[in-house]
Amino acid sequence: MNKKASRYCEHCGKAKKACICHFISRIDSDVPVIVLQHPSEVNQPIGTARILSLSLPHCALFVGEDFSDHAELNTKLATENIDFALLYPSDDAVPISRWQATANDKDHADIDIPTHIDTPAHIGTHNDTDTKNARGIILLDGTWRKAFKMYQLSRNLHSLPAVKLDDISEGNYRIRKSPIEGGLSTVEAGYYALSAMTHDGERYQPLLTAFDGMIEFQISQMPPGVYERHYGKKDE
Ligand SMILES: [Zn+2]
Repeated sequence: MNKKASRYCEHCGKAKKACICHFISRIDSDVPVIVLQHPSEVNQPIGTARILSLSLPHCALFVGEDFSDHAELNTKLATENIDFALLYPSDDAVPISRWQATANDKDHADIDIPTHIDTPAHIGTHNDTDTKNARGIILLDGTWRKAFKMYQLSRNLHSLPAVKLDDISEGNYRIRKSPIEGGLSTVEAGYYALSAMTHDGERYQPLLTAFDGMIEFQISQMPPGVYERHYGKKDE
């Protein structure tokens, strides 16, 4: 067991030869992020959720499929001063910038989302807008089929506001395309969500830098033809 464990980096969980830790920069961010990871993603060499949890100080990563009775998640969802939204393309999903605007401009909230936002005193020190830290984002880490199933099974997610990314260009996730969210990886989705929420894309740029580094490495390790054979077609 120890022999097996030693093949993997204790920080990023990747095989040591594919360790992504040197790509990671710690980002000064107060925005709470929760990544719900499908079990099938845990050992994906190209999984990107770890980039989020390694880079962001307030990022929790939980593994599962049905999170209805997940105690830690439910505790976070019950946190009084933080309202979470779920990044999920349901029919009633609103663009994330619109959802965020209701936190920053309560008087002009014009969409049907609860706006009882209190500014927590214990977070938020470096931001200009004192209400924006009261919002957190939940990301589903899985193929679109798995994310769909996670959402269907996890009843506690159904009462959350669903948000979608504002119009963005297609991501550069060359390894594994997904038909949801413009074909973005989880870390890219997180980057765009956080950028939209804070209007500070520059702050979160290290997420994409780490992502690019990881992808370049993975592609460089593939024998000729493997990339096309395994990743040139749509996932599932
Ligand atoms: Zn590592």
